[in-house]
Amino acid sequence: MKARRKGIRCECGGTERPVTLTDYDFSAYAGFAVRIEEVPGFRCSRCKTETLDGRIINAVLKILVIEIAQLPFLLPPHLARYLRTVLGDTQEELAVRMGISRATVNRWETGQERIAPQNDLLLRVLTLYPLVTTNEKWLTPVVVELLAKLQAVRTSPPPLEGGFPETVSVAPMLSTIGPATA
Ligand SMILES: [Zn+2]
Repeated sequence: MKARRKGIRCECGGTERPVTLTDYDFSAYAGFAVRIEEVPGFRCSRCKTETLDGRIINAVLKILVIEIAQLPFLLPPHLARYLRTVLGDTQEELAVRMGISRATVNRWETGQERIAPQNDLLLRVLTLYPLVTTNEKWLTPVVVELLAKLQAVRTSPPPLEGGFPETVSVAPMLSTIGPATA
């Protein structure tokens, strides 16, 4: 059922071999600048091109949601946008869900206006909740704990500014779902 990537041919004629990629630029998948450490992937024996399979890409996209949902400051524009795209919502759809105008969503995603704390919290919860209801058991305990923690985060007003790490370590969570070739 699942295509076996091991020994697959690269476009260059080389062979893609399973390896742990120590530092992978995940920006193209995330839609914002981010690198990931220690991710199971493939490297071509000839041209050295590094690739990830779809299962790992999907897992990392979800790990990024979990990382973002834990940030102790209001979501900056690019991360608020990321959470919406993970939800699969247009700006209009998210606005309807949250009972606000599309223009408001657009303003916080373009940096014209800071996201309001209540919308920030709602966006995090909306994005996390589907992760509990998927059949990906490896995620459930992490997300359930995080949903509980979010309440504690908001016992004081979140600061406006903060940085998201340039590099995210995904190995501890990915180790629970097995090697890339499984
Ligand atoms: Zn190649």
